[in-house]
Amino acid sequence: MKGKYILVLSIIILLSSIFYVSFSVFADKGRFHYEETGEVVWDIKTEEKIIAITFDDGPHRKYTAEVLDLLAKYDAKATFFIIGENAEKYPELVLRAHEEGHELANHTYTHPVKTTIAHLEDELKQTNETIYGITGFYPKLFRPVGGQYTDDMIKAAVDKGYKVVMWSWHQDTEDWKNPGVKNIVKKVVNVTKPGDVILFHDGGGNRKQTVKALEEILPELQKQGYKFVTISELIEYKNNK
Ligand SMILES: [Zn+2]
Repeated sequence: MKGKYILVLSIIILLSSIFYVSFSVFADKGRFHYEETGEVVWDIKTEEKIIAITFDDGPHRKYTAEVLDLLAKYDAKATFFIIGENAEKYPELVLRAHEEGHELANHTYTHPVKTTIAHLEDELKQTNETIYGITGFYPKLFRPVGGQYTDDMIKAAVDKGYKVVMWSWHQDTEDWKNPGVKNIVKKVVNVTKPGDVILFHDGGGNRKQTVKALEEILPELQKQGYKFVTISELIEYKNNK
Protein backbone atom coordinates (compact mmCIF):
# COMPACT_ATOMS: atom_id res chain seq x y z
CA MET A 1 0.00 0.00 0.00
CA LYS A 2 2.77 2.37 0.99
CA GLY A 3 4.59 1.86 -2.33
CA LYS A 4 1.44 2.62 -4.29
CA TYR A 5 0.87 5.78 -2.27
CA ILE A 6 4.40 7.02 -2.98
CA LEU A 7 3.99 6.22 -6.69
CA VAL A 8 0.75 8.20 -6.94
CA LEU A 9 2.30 11.08 -5.03
CA SER A 10 5.34 11.11 -7.33
CA ILE A 11 3.12 11.16 -10.41
CA ILE A 12 1.16 14.09 -8.99
CA ILE A 13 4.36 16.01 -8.26
CA LEU A 14 5.75 15.21 -11.71
CA LEU A 15 2.55 16.31 -13.49
CA SER A 16 2.27 19.53 -11.54
CA SER A 17 5.88 20.45 -12.23
CA ILE A 18 5.41 19.77 -15.95
CA PHE A 19 2.29 21.94 -15.89
CA TYR A 20 4.09 24.66 -13.97
CA VAL A 21 7.05 24.75 -16.35
CA SER A 22 4.86 24.75 -19.47
CA PHE A 23 2.66 27.43 -18.02
CA SER A 24 5.53 29.73 -17.17
CA VAL A 25 7.14 29.24 -20.59
CA PHE A 26 3.97 29.62 -22.64
CA ALA A 27 2.19 32.28 -20.60
CA ASP A 28 2.99 34.68 -23.42
CA LYS A 29 2.89 34.27 -27.18
CA GLY A 30 6.60 33.57 -27.15
CA ARG A 31 9.73 34.80 -28.81
CA PHE A 32 9.07 33.12 -32.16
CA HIS A 33 5.73 34.88 -32.54
CA TYR A 34 7.06 38.29 -31.55
CA GLU A 35 10.11 38.02 -33.77
CA GLU A 36 7.86 37.15 -36.70
CA THR A 37 5.70 40.22 -36.10
CA GLY A 38 8.76 42.36 -35.34
CA GLU A 39 7.04 43.73 -32.23
CA VAL A 40 9.81 42.56 -29.90
CA VAL A 41 13.55 42.38 -30.54
CA TRP A 42 16.03 40.18 -28.70
CA ASP A 43 18.83 40.24 -31.25
CA ILE A 44 19.18 39.78 -34.98
CA LYS A 45 20.67 37.15 -37.24
CA THR A 46 23.49 38.48 -39.33
CA GLU A 47 27.02 37.68 -40.34
CA GLU A 48 27.99 41.34 -40.25
CA LYS A 49 30.06 42.17 -37.18
CA ILE A 50 27.66 44.65 -35.64
CA ILE A 51 26.32 44.62 -32.09
CA ALA A 52 24.14 46.85 -29.94
CA ILE A 53 25.22 47.79 -26.43
CA THR A 54 22.35 48.85 -24.18
CA PHE A 55 22.23 50.52 -20.77
CA ASP A 56 19.26 50.44 -18.39
CA ASP A 57 18.17 52.51 -15.39
CA GLY A 58 20.11 55.74 -15.97
CA PRO A 59 20.99 58.42 -16.30
CA HIS A 60 23.25 58.46 -13.28
CA ARG A 61 25.30 61.58 -12.51
CA LYS A 62 28.64 59.79 -12.36
CA TYR A 63 28.38 56.47 -14.21
CA THR A 64 26.46 57.68 -17.25
CA ALA A 65 29.02 60.43 -17.76
CA GLU A 66 31.85 57.88 -17.52
CA VAL A 67 30.09 55.51 -19.91
CA LEU A 68 29.62 58.34 -22.41
CA ASP A 69 33.33 59.21 -22.19
CA LEU A 70 34.25 55.61 -22.97
CA LEU A 71 31.80 55.28 -25.83
CA ALA A 72 33.24 58.46 -27.36
CA LYS A 73 36.78 57.13 -26.98
CA TYR A 74 35.96 53.99 -28.98
CA ASP A 75 33.57 55.67 -31.40
CA ALA A 76 30.82 53.36 -30.16
CA LYS A 77 27.10 54.11 -30.36
CA ALA A 78 24.81 52.71 -27.69
CA THR A 79 21.17 52.76 -26.62
CA PHE A 80 20.09 54.13 -23.23
CA PHE A 81 16.86 52.82 -21.71
CA ILE A 82 16.13 55.77 -19.50
CA ILE A 83 14.04 56.04 -16.35
CA GLY A 84 11.96 59.21 -16.72
CA GLU A 85 12.46 60.49 -13.20
CA ASN A 86 16.24 60.13 -13.57
CA ALA A 87 16.06 62.09 -16.82
CA GLU A 88 14.35 64.91 -14.88
CA LYS A 89 17.28 64.91 -12.45
CA TYR A 90 20.05 64.86 -15.05
CA PRO A 91 18.73 66.43 -18.25
CA GLU A 92 22.25 67.47 -19.26
CA LEU A 93 23.28 63.80 -19.52
CA VAL A 94 20.22 62.95 -21.58
CA LEU A 95 21.03 65.80 -23.92
CA ARG A 96 24.68 64.84 -24.09
CA ALA A 97 23.87 61.21 -24.99
CA HIS A 98 21.51 62.41 -27.70
CA GLU A 99 23.96 64.92 -29.12
CA GLU A 100 26.73 62.33 -29.20
CA GLY A 101 24.64 60.09 -31.44
CA HIS A 102 23.31 57.53 -28.97
CA GLU A 103 19.74 56.34 -29.03
CA LEU A 104 17.41 57.32 -26.19
CA ALA A 105 14.76 54.81 -25.23
CA ASN A 106 11.99 54.41 -22.68
CA HIS A 107 12.33 52.32 -19.50
CA THR A 108 9.22 53.71 -17.68
CA TYR A 109 9.07 56.74 -15.41
CA THR A 110 9.47 55.27 -11.91
CA HIS A 111 10.69 51.73 -12.74
CA PRO A 112 7.71 49.94 -11.15
CA VAL A 113 8.20 46.19 -10.78
CA LYS A 114 4.47 45.58 -11.04
CA THR A 115 2.03 47.81 -12.84
CA THR A 116 -1.37 47.95 -14.53
CA ILE A 117 -1.62 48.56 -18.26
CA ALA A 118 -3.14 52.01 -17.69
CA HIS A 119 -0.33 52.95 -15.34
CA LEU A 120 2.29 51.61 -17.74
CA GLU A 121 0.82 53.75 -20.52
CA ASP A 122 1.04 56.81 -18.27
CA GLU A 123 4.65 56.03 -17.39
CA LEU A 124 5.62 55.55 -21.03
CA LYS A 125 4.03 58.84 -21.97
CA GLN A 126 5.55 60.75 -19.08
CA THR A 127 9.05 59.46 -19.85
CA ASN A 128 8.78 60.13 -23.57
CA GLU A 129 7.53 63.65 -22.92
CA THR A 130 10.40 64.28 -20.52
CA ILE A 131 12.98 63.06 -23.05
CA TYR A 132 11.28 64.98 -25.84
CA GLY A 133 11.28 68.14 -23.70
CA ILE A 134 15.04 67.85 -23.17
CA THR A 135 16.14 66.74 -26.63
CA GLY A 136 13.31 67.16 -29.14
CA PHE A 137 13.62 63.41 -29.79
CA TYR A 138 10.64 61.16 -29.16
CA PRO A 139 11.83 57.61 -28.27
CA LYS A 140 10.23 54.68 -30.08
CA LEU A 141 11.75 51.81 -28.13
CA PHE A 142 10.58 50.45 -24.79
CA ARG A 143 12.26 47.94 -22.48
CA PRO A 144 10.07 46.49 -19.71
CA VAL A 145 11.33 46.69 -16.14
CA GLY A 146 13.46 43.63 -15.37
CA GLY A 147 12.62 42.36 -18.86
CA GLN A 148 9.31 41.11 -17.46
CA TYR A 149 6.49 41.43 -19.95
CA THR A 150 3.03 40.11 -20.71
CA ASP A 151 1.16 40.01 -24.00
CA ASP A 152 -1.02 42.87 -22.75
CA MET A 153 2.02 45.02 -21.99
CA ILE A 154 3.45 44.42 -25.44
CA LYS A 155 0.12 45.17 -27.06
CA ALA A 156 -0.20 48.42 -25.11
CA ALA A 157 3.31 49.52 -26.09
CA VAL A 158 2.91 48.48 -29.74
CA ASP A 159 -0.45 50.29 -29.95
CA LYS A 160 1.36 53.45 -28.84
CA GLY A 161 3.93 52.99 -31.59
CA TYR A 162 6.78 51.41 -29.63
CA LYS A 163 8.94 48.43 -30.40
CA VAL A 164 9.75 46.36 -27.31
CA VAL A 165 13.44 45.62 -26.86
CA MET A 166 14.87 42.78 -24.78
CA TRP A 167 18.46 41.51 -25.08
CA SER A 168 20.31 38.42 -26.34
CA TRP A 169 19.65 35.56 -23.94
CA HIS A 170 23.40 34.90 -23.72
CA GLN A 171 24.25 38.58 -23.18
CA ASP A 172 22.78 39.32 -19.76
CA THR A 173 25.89 40.60 -17.97
CA GLU A 174 24.10 40.70 -14.60
CA ASP A 175 26.37 43.65 -13.87
CA TRP A 176 23.79 44.95 -11.37
CA LYS A 177 24.82 42.09 -9.08
CA ASN A 178 28.41 43.43 -9.09
CA PRO A 179 29.89 40.02 -9.97
CA GLY A 180 33.42 41.43 -10.45
CA VAL A 181 34.95 43.23 -13.43
CA LYS A 182 36.64 40.09 -14.79
CA ASN A 183 33.38 38.16 -14.75
CA ILE A 184 31.51 40.86 -16.61
CA VAL A 185 34.27 41.06 -19.23
CA LYS A 186 34.45 37.29 -19.67
CA LYS A 187 30.71 36.93 -19.89
CA VAL A 188 30.60 39.30 -22.85
CA VAL A 189 33.78 38.78 -24.84
CA ASN A 190 33.65 34.98 -24.70
CA VAL A 191 30.21 34.74 -26.30
CA THR A 192 29.73 37.80 -28.49
CA LYS A 193 28.49 37.09 -31.98
CA PRO A 194 27.20 39.31 -34.80
CA GLY A 195 23.77 40.84 -34.19
CA ASP A 196 23.91 40.58 -30.39
CA VAL A 197 22.18 42.95 -27.99
CA ILE A 198 24.16 43.30 -24.75
CA LEU A 199 22.59 44.36 -21.47
CA PHE A 200 24.38 46.66 -19.04
CA HIS A 201 23.18 49.08 -16.37
CA ASP A 202 24.43 52.65 -15.97
CA GLY A 203 22.12 53.41 -13.04
CA GLY A 204 20.32 51.79 -10.14
CA GLY A 205 23.32 51.41 -7.83
CA ASN A 206 27.10 51.34 -7.78
CA ARG A 207 28.12 50.75 -11.41
CA LYS A 208 31.87 51.08 -10.99
CA GLN A 209 32.35 47.49 -12.20
CA THR A 210 30.30 48.14 -15.32
CA VAL A 211 32.47 51.12 -16.24
CA LYS A 212 35.70 49.20 -15.55
CA ALA A 213 34.46 46.22 -17.56
CA LEU A 214 33.56 48.47 -20.49
CA GLU A 215 37.11 49.80 -20.48
CA GLU A 216 38.19 46.28 -21.44
CA ILE A 217 35.20 45.10 -23.45
CA LEU A 218 35.09 47.99 -25.93
CA PRO A 219 38.71 47.75 -27.15
CA GLU A 220 38.60 43.93 -27.14
CA LEU A 221 35.47 43.69 -29.28
CA GLN A 222 36.74 46.46 -31.51
CA LYS A 223 39.91 44.45 -32.00
CA GLN A 224 37.73 41.48 -32.98
CA GLY A 225 36.25 43.70 -35.69
CA TYR A 226 32.92 44.61 -34.11
CA LYS A 227 31.11 47.85 -34.75
CA PHE A 228 28.79 49.21 -32.03
CA VAL A 229 25.45 50.46 -33.34
CA THR A 230 22.16 51.64 -31.83
CA ILE A 231 19.13 49.35 -31.60
CA SER A 232 17.35 51.23 -34.38
CA GLU A 233 20.36 50.82 -36.64
CA LEU A 234 20.44 47.11 -35.82
CA ILE A 235 16.73 46.75 -36.65
CA GLU A 236 17.15 48.71 -39.86
CA TYR A 237 20.01 46.46 -40.80
CA LYS A 238 17.78 43.42 -40.30
CA ASN A 239 14.95 44.94 -42.34
CA ASN A 240 17.20 45.86 -45.24
CA LYS A 241 18.60 42.38 -45.50
ZN1 LIG B 1 15.61 48.49 -15.14
